[in-house]
Amino acid sequence: MSTPRSTALIVDASKSVATLLGSYVRLAVGTETELAHDFKTLKKLLEDRPERFYVAALDTVLPDAPSGEAVDYVLGYNIPVIVLTASHGDAQHEAVVDKNVVEFVVKSGTGEMEYATNAIHRVYNNRFVKILIVDDSISYRYYLRNLLRMHQYQTLDAANADQALATLDENNDIRLVIVDYNMPGINGLQLINVIRQRYNRSELAVLGLSQVDDEKLPARILRSGANDFVTKPVVVEEFYCRVTHCIETIEHIRLIEEWATRDYLTRAYNRRYLFEAGSRLHENAKRGNLTLAAAMIDADHFKSINDKHGHHVGDVVLKAIASTLAECLRQSDLVARVGGEEFCVLATGLDEAGAANVFERVRQEIDALDISADERTVHVTVSIGVCMTLEDSLESMINRADGALYSAKSQGRNKVVLVTENA
Ligand code: GH3
Ligand code: MG
Ligand code: MG
Repeated sequence: MSTPRSTALIVDASKSVATLLGSYVRLAVGTETELAHDFKTLKKLLEDRPERFYVAALDTVLPDAPSGEAVDYVLGYNIPVIVLTASHGDAQHEAVVDKNVVEFVVKSGTGEMEYATNAIHRVYNNRFVKILIVDDSISYRYYLRNLLRMHQYQTLDAANADQALATLDENNDIRLVIVDYNMPGINGLQLINVIRQRYNRSELAVLGLSQVDDEKLPARILRSGANDFVTKPVVVEEFYCRVTHCIETIEHIRLIEEWATRDYLTRAYNRRYLFEAGSRLHENAKRGNLTLAAAMIDADHFKSINDKHGHHVGDVVLKAIASTLAECLRQSDLVARVGGEEFCVLATGLDEAGAANVFERVRQEIDALDISADERTVHVTVSIGVCMTLEDSLESMINRADGALYSAKSQGRNKVVLVTENA
């Protein structure tokens, strides 16, 4: 039996359109789909467990419902609707805009299947997005909450600035805050200022709600750190668009950060990030707050794996090494790919015996891997050098780990060598 909100409902008079969109959705969004081609079948599907649908993509012209009747019917079940229509008739658009529809897709356009699939994907992803509404008016909070829930967002709300800051403090996964300007005590502008002192634009987006009668306010809201603003009372379609833009902006910033800090092949951190975040760990260790181990890990005879099986298989082996490192280490440890087949690990909170254990386990786990690629199984080993002495700089620790790695290689490879105070 299907779980709640796990299926996309696709209704189009044209069987080929519905089938095509269904296969796009299953492929791109990865959820189940159910198809219908007329109003009668649609009603039957909704009578039986309507809660399984997280979205409905609806043709406005069905053989037994030619004037968009299906839209109202589905909205009555609180299911977000994406309207599929044959033409961009303005009157028809106007008629559905006010009805909380998520998107309006013209079927005769170009790339319309991708467009509709993207809209469905967005609704599906909204369930993972948490939005905080800050407004002193309980009825307006309620109104905005309903609009957002209609599009499957998770919502929290606060009646004033103090509550808002406390809620942000308790929920580090809030992605967007919607802030009303007019609130008693700390007003929206002041609140946005405080929020921006604490959270940057890759952590949190801010959407200001400004009064329609103050033309200077939008600029002040934007200057105080909001990503965008909407005038109150909100125009529903505009509100949804601006919310979506705010969320997408954060996602883009995060993606850019991800690309800037991680290696594209193995998803381990890159050298630049290693030194950036690593210096903070090193400084903390210097202050005596934590112990730090720096390890260099290098695949043995990797060139011959490439020569024998091809570069593609070599890449799969590198990915397997990276994920084994991630599995053997703690979330707080830093794993970076620093060269072709070389990784560097910075691990905290380990004494000498602990470090010896952890890196010996890494060595054994990699040695035990049966890596399948290109219909064959490949085996790889690594040599590891670990520096446990707290040097003056992170570079010196990594250099000493590199020296130990060199010893491990010359002692026959597939070995762990530790540099300690006594060694
Ligand atoms: P040793 O045991 O002494 O470390 O020998 P090795 O063969 O592993 O070392 P060497 O430095 O001679 O060769 C490293 C090889 O790693 C050569 C290079 O082609 C390969 N390499 C570097 N980056 C990548 C990559 O991204 N993908 C693949 N498949 N191979 C890579
Ligand atoms: Mg090597
Ligand atoms: Mg090497």
